[in-house]
Amino acid sequence: MSVVIQMDEAIAWLHAHDHYWVVAHERPDGDAISSTLAMGYLLQQLGKSYRMVNADPIPPKFLSLPTADQITTISNNHGEEITSPFPDRNENWLPKAMILVDCADERRAGPLIKELLAQIPSFSVDHHPTNNHFAHLNLVKSESAATAQLIYDLYEATAIPFDEISATLLYTGLLTDTGGFRHSNTTSAVMERAAHLLQYGVQPGDLANRFLETITVEHVALLQRALQSLELLHHGGIAVMSLMKSDFLETNATREDVNGIVNYGVNLDSTEVGVLFHEESNGIKVSFRSKDWLNVAELAQQFGGGGHVRAAGCTMTGSMTDVKKAVLQALEGQFHKKE
Ligand code: 5GP
Ligand code: MN
Repeated sequence: MSVVIQMDEAIAWLHAHDHYWVVAHERPDGDAISSTLAMGYLLQQLGKSYRMVNADPIPPKFLSLPTADQITTISNNHGEEITSPFPDRNENWLPKAMILVDCADERRAGPLIKELLAQIPSFSVDHHPTNNHFAHLNLVKSESAATAQLIYDLYEATAIPFDEISATLLYTGLLTDTGGFRHSNTTSAVMERAAHLLQYGVQPGDLANRFLETITVEHVALLQRALQSLELLHHGGIAVMSLMKSDFLETNATREDVNGIVNYGVNLDSTEVGVLFHEESNGIKVSFRSKDWLNVAELAQQFGGGGHVRAAGCTMTGSMTDVKKAVLQALEGQFHKKE
């Protein structure tokens, strides 16, 4: 049975268990990675044994975060039998308890984690409104801008002092999930915590440069193609872009290079919603960003995904044409309802 809990119950649970895995959602972003690392660092200070694990590799730019090299990618995450999750370290270190951070549902953690979750005690810390309370204990607060914000509060509740490492990690989660303290989730609670963390040696300009500003040549090449595909629907209210597998192959771009492209659609002055479709190995990934009124979390949920009110996504099977048709029909439906 799943239970929704408060900070003090979370701390009691952390003290009560040991031999943890800390896991975030697959294709981890800044908040997912920072939250994994900050949670691991907290466990270390609580004297616990733990491993930090993700279904996918950490994008290179985040490897510069303190302790990021300790996150292991599970190699056999796609349906094969579990033998050793850590073949590179030649060890078979299976968890006795699981902590999920920034993960809205069990599928987002990847198949292996989903399987393990059914067998051992689990605790989830998250801020997605679409979180389905899949763990045994769930600390879920959708009013938090980032999962890192909740982990900040866990540090305070344990009375473990911040230092340069924890402050840098938590600040990075706040920074990336608020788009540089600019999105509508930027509250006084965010700013108070960020301001406090700056006292511990965080380098704000450097982190913003590394995680928000720096782009690759491959990203620019992919962006050129995405912009070429731009279509405006519903009197410019809907901006649609798409990228095919060939666009990735011909530009040598990775799926990391897609990040940020959908914003060019939603940033147009006429636009309420930007949608980006791109081909991936397991289907068509759809990214949604909205500006004022459209709840894209609900929309993505209709197609098996989820996310936040102004930023959400899903992965669908079928051809690009069919997926586009289904999603755009649902979107147009929302616009007609609004009229
Ligand atoms: P992006 O478009 O940048 O991949 O994702 C935007 C947000 O949507 C993410 O922060 C995440 O919360 C959510 N999201 C994206 N894809 C999925 C998905 O397949 N399932 C769920 N539950 N959420 C998703
Ligand atoms: Mn997050």
